[in-house]
Amino acid sequence: MGGLREITAVVVAAECPVGGVVEAIEQVTSHLPTANDPEVCPLCPARPWPCSGFDAAAGHIQAAGIPIGYLVPLDLHARLWPPPQLRPTTPPPGRAQIGEESS
Ligand SMILES: [Zn+2]
Repeated sequence: MGGLREITAVVVAAECPVGGVVEAIEQVTSHLPTANDPEVCPLCPARPWPCSGFDAAAGHIQAAGIPIGYLVPLDLHARLWPPPQLRPTTPPPGRAQIGEESS
């Protein structure tokens, strides 16, 4: 299989924020995995996605003030921003209550 995702082209003013990062946008797009194989970049198959090529180009785009999520298909958002869990930030309720009542 392999291949790339279907793409579309758009014309923007060269002076606008998007026009200033066209090459980075093309890089990000070329490093997008397919929907059938969301863990593997078609250009960097040796590493899991997001790959270093994607990260570098995404950094340029975000530095221009453009949210990278607008350029990433929705099915890949969960890999870019895994849900925050498995990191408890509060102590178990029983222990906290015991400490507070000892004053
Ligand atoms: Zn890549």
